[in-house]
Amino acid sequence: MTYFYGPVPSRRLGFSLGLDLIPRKICSFDCVYCQLGKTTRKSLRRFSSVNLQRLKKELRQIIKRRVKIDYITLSGCGEPTLHKDLDKIVSAVKKITKNKYPVCLITNSSLLHRKDVRNEIKEIDLIIPSLDAVSPRVFKNINNPHKSLAVDKIISGLKALKKNFKGEIWLEIMLVAGRNDSVSEAIKFRKIISRIRPDKVQLNLPTRPSENQVKIPSFEKIKTIKKILGCAVEVISPFKNKQQTSPSKARTQILTYLLRRPATAKDLINSLAIDDAAFDKIIKSLLRKNKIMQKFYSRKNFFTAAVKRTDDQK
Ligand code: SF4
Repeated sequence: MTYFYGPVPSRRLGFSLGLDLIPRKICSFDCVYCQLGKTTRKSLRRFSSVNLQRLKKELRQIIKRRVKIDYITLSGCGEPTLHKDLDKIVSAVKKITKNKYPVCLITNSSLLHRKDVRNEIKEIDLIIPSLDAVSPRVFKNINNPHKSLAVDKIISGLKALKKNFKGEIWLEIMLVAGRNDSVSEAIKFRKIISRIRPDKVQLNLPTRPSENQVKIPSFEKIKTIKKILGCAVEVISPFKNKQQTSPSKARTQILTYLLRRPATAKDLINSLAIDDAAFDKIIKSLLRKNKIMQKFYSRKNFFTAAVKRTDDQK
């Protein structure tokens, strides 16, 4: 598949069929916690790279397989709003699926200040925009943004989105120890959130490996921040459900998954619903053939693809 991956287990969305429009890793940020490695092209310039006919063909094939899908999610290996014509893509997805699955956009919010971008995403059902900082210094320290991006621009984009967007907005804050977990930043967050008025606020934690080896704040810190922000704040919890996937496809699916992001054995088993013995056999064979590697991070064992995904592997 060129554009779709999964469905993958998502801590927030259940089974999420990923739609990856952006070549690895073109982004307007270079976040310290990014699980995809360093940003190779930091940019705010929007572009088109998708072949819409091919995208539609892939989606029809996936729908035929009758896999469990809770959301179709624009996410992937870079910032999705850098892709132009998102309205055409979303409309094609909704037409093919007969609007059976809600469409979600996960974005770093960097382009929401643009009216053309907000117009293109207005038919989306759920937007999960992130806001990891409200102070300029913290913003630079955690998101390492494109030089022309100021945090005020991000906040005004989020407020403008809320004004006209009809779907749900779940604001995400990735909490990183020593970067954005101070009480003073949390107090400023509270004020800004009351102006953005998202439907939900979710505190996410960097549980996957990143090049900068960032740390999760202590349980006490998370509790304090949650309390400051107010009771409507959720902390994202690990995924638990199971789905049925053919074991014969497991090897390819594991490789496809790991080419995009690291995963623990538990993530992969949940995603594929294969028994532990079959999973073990596939993993051992992939390790033996140097197709994947193991990485210990945050007291967990992660698998990653031995070769990073290139655009040809998309
Ligand atoms: S916005 Fe997302 S893709 Fe871009 S650097 Fe941050 S975490 Fe990585």
